[in-house]
Amino acid sequence: MKKAASEIKKSLLLARKNCPWEKGQTIEKRLKELKGEVEELAQAIEKNDLENMREEFGDVFWDLMAIGIIAEEKKLFSIKGALEEVNKKIRNRKPWIYGKEKITTIEEAEKRWHELKAIEKAKKGKKQAI
Ligand code: MG
Repeated sequence: MKKAASEIKKSLLLARKNCPWEKGQTIEKRLKELKGEVEELAQAIEKNDLENMREEFGDVFWDLMAIGIIAEEKKLFSIKGALEEVNKKIRNRKPWIYGKEKITTIEEAEKRWHELKAIEKAKKGKKQAI
């Protein structure tokens, strides 16, 4: 997976350099493309069309990465930083998936997730207030 994701990034960087259409893309324009691909993925899921689902998942990932590449060019954020942040968020909000807490029901999982999210938000609020 790491190699495939890194090839996508490499191709998108080349496209930004060598493809007139890609050079003209902005985050806003790419968002429109991404929404279209998400809709195609939704249709494939609704139809339970597994082959198309795989293809559209790839298309969504491609357009999402394209937004990340433009964001990196504009120094808005890094893809790596965004991925590290979501990983940290999941580690903090779902400690039971790493064996740090014991959760046995869907209701417990939802309740605990909301509790941990609220604690996280309160901590962030305190940090911003300082
Ligand atoms: Mg598509």
